[in-house]
Amino acid sequence: MTELLPTWQREPCPRWCIRDHDEDDIALDRYHQGSATTVPVLMSTDSEEPRSATYVPVDLAIRVGRYAGELIDWVAIEPVRLTAPRLVLTAESAARLAEQVTAQLAEHVALDQA
Ligand SMILES: [Zn+2]
Repeated sequence: MTELLPTWQREPCPRWCIRDHDEDDIALDRYHQGSATTVPVLMSTDSEEPRSATYVPVDLAIRVGRYAGELIDWVAIEPVRLTAPRLVLTAESAARLAEQVTAQLAEHVALDQA
């Protein structure tokens, strides 16, 4: 969130941007970013079976972003202390993913617990 925009920034920050933008930002750092939500999860990135033997506790960060000068918002989902795996989705794709995860849980997991 910057009141005086750097010369490379042609548009105001989206209302959700919390990032400070500087004149010296390199091209890769020229993006708007929302605050992160973190979710503690158990995950495995190992292909070893059974996967449950390789689960590790991880905090996943979820945040919205948009590159300067672009109109496409993206949602990044990535471990807080790791660089991979990283999932970067368009906002529309993230909404479809959330909808399908919710549907899968409602259809299968909730029934298993009943
Ligand atoms: Zn911004």
